[in-house]
Amino acid sequence: MTDPKIYGVVGWKNSGKTGLMERLVAEFTARGLVVSTLKHTHHQVDLEVPGTDTHRHREAGAQEVVLASTSRIAQLHELRGEPEPDIATLISRLHPCDLVLIEGFKSAPHPKIEASRAETGQPLFATDDATVRVVAANHTPSNVSISVIDLDDTKAVADFIARDVGLMPDAAESAPMPAPQAGLKNDCFALPPGVHWTPVEEALATLRDRLAPVTKPEIIPTAMARGRILARDHMAVRSNPPGANSAVDGYAFAHATLPSGTPISLPLVDGRAAAGGPFQGRVPAGHAIRILTGALIPDGVDTVVLQEDVQVADGMLTFPAAPKPGSNARAAGEDVAAGQLALPLGHKLRAPDIALLSALGVAEVAAHTRLRVGVLSTGDELAAPGSTMDVARTYDANRPMLLSLAETWGYEPVDLGHVADDRAALAAAFDKGSERADVILTSGGASAGDEDHVSALLKDSGSLHHWRIAIKPGRPLALAQWNGTPVFGLPGNPVAALVTTLIFARPAFSVLAGGDWVEPLGMQLPAGFSKKKKAGRREYLRARIGADGRVEAFKSEGSGRISGLSWATGLVELPDVAQEITPGDPVRFLPYAGFGLV
Ligand code: AMP
Ligand code: MG
Repeated sequence: MTDPKIYGVVGWKNSGKTGLMERLVAEFTARGLVVSTLKHTHHQVDLEVPGTDTHRHREAGAQEVVLASTSRIAQLHELRGEPEPDIATLISRLHPCDLVLIEGFKSAPHPKIEASRAETGQPLFATDDATVRVVAANHTPSNVSISVIDLDDTKAVADFIARDVGLMPDAAESAPMPAPQAGLKNDCFALPPGVHWTPVEEALATLRDRLAPVTKPEIIPTAMARGRILARDHMAVRSNPPGANSAVDGYAFAHATLPSGTPISLPLVDGRAAAGGPFQGRVPAGHAIRILTGALIPDGVDTVVLQEDVQVADGMLTFPAAPKPGSNARAAGEDVAAGQLALPLGHKLRAPDIALLSALGVAEVAAHTRLRVGVLSTGDELAAPGSTMDVARTYDANRPMLLSLAETWGYEPVDLGHVADDRAALAAAFDKGSERADVILTSGGASAGDEDHVSALLKDSGSLHHWRIAIKPGRPLALAQWNGTPVFGLPGNPVAALVTTLIFARPAFSVLAGGDWVEPLGMQLPAGFSKKKKAGRREYLRARIGADGRVEAFKSEGSGRISGLSWATGLVELPDVAQEITPGDPVRFLPYAGFGLV
């Protein structure tokens, strides 16, 4: 048997969770599975009657007591102040089985079902806990963005769990939520056999198909969530605006009760309506009231006239003509209604999104943990910038560049340092990297030459897929997994390293981090340069927009010219086909900003 599948059952007191556990154990056992359970209880609970033999052994100080009979065995282990073991440790004490159902342990990260009975009147954990994947309820809860199944339909609940944990053969197609912890398949980077030079589009499509999120959801305050990726749909807790209110400073009245004829004169009531200071009471028909921007529209009125358009004298309001009914009044929920989708699963939060969620009362979000991007430089020739004047040494430019890119994209940069061209040292760095990072970016040694140790090592480990991509700049990209952690082996040349990171690693990381596949922003602009290119590969030129609105290309295409990266404000993308560009021809410009560079 392989490791058991794990699923939790949570719920408030009297939510029906133990009954559900009982029915699920019976259902899965009837399906031929070996099921074990784990239950969390209060620390004072004792399992034995005082005075029994084994209770006396424990009281006397035995660390563990095993009570055995021909029909069952009980093992009691006294913690006596030691920390409570985590779930993995507890599960490791169980005999091999197919499925472990866990009752309680609400804050552990395993996937869970929440039992809910309307009678408890309690809010659902599922509305703010992304580890809850399905609700089993005897009512129809509002505001949940996940499946709700009838609490008594044990078969349907068991089917959902079986699909979700992969106990059923069609798990991949029918699981209702993408499984964030799904991991990657061993051969996820394999390209179709027999392909010599892979077109960029095909390489991208392969990555797009094969990758899945590797980060887990957690609940964090919305205010802290910039750059994070939502781990589920988030619904408006309250409408925006929550109540009908005035869009301007002015005077409010009921449009239907206006006198006929112009100009219009209305008596003003005492008092006023202000933002945060609503008018208490009802405005009588044929009267008007002073109202300020953002104030709730008082009972009895529906239309607001601008203060600039009126005259006030002796308690009377006068204006030349009636505005349209409902003018300058905002309806409750006209922007977003309570319960509507605020932002979807996979959305990466920017400052304006934080405003939206806050306005809708979503104070906490279920977001993926930040993707940890490990960056490793390889090569005997590398030295820390400024550390030596030896002309045989190259300053390591890629590692600081790639670490800062990871940070710019909202990920957690993990500096894995520099290793020389030495297999054992590289293997050790990969071991460390696969523990500390969710994805590893290496640069250098990714080709197939004698000194290309990254390639050679990954090849020996059996997971290397060399991608000979038809792209310039950018020699082969080495894609592999080390202990299950994806590795992107980039070319050492900083120009090629940047281009391949922007084109391939950026969208790939977005998916690994739980987000959408992202495309660079591009625009057609007239070329300010001439260029002839061959068919069969895509080319990227360092470029920027000149004062005349044309795109200038950097004076040299030499891949060692790092200054061009900094001179540029973007890249020109030239298609795979042959092309002869003359000034004024449209070319596709990809601004750095459109790759999320700042
Ligand atoms: P490689 O891909 O290892 O053959 O390296 C190609 C070129 O990139 C060589 O000139 C290397 O010295 C250079 N290079 C490799 N890694 C880095 C780095 N981290 N920073 C700057 N240049 C590098
Ligand atoms: Mg090298």
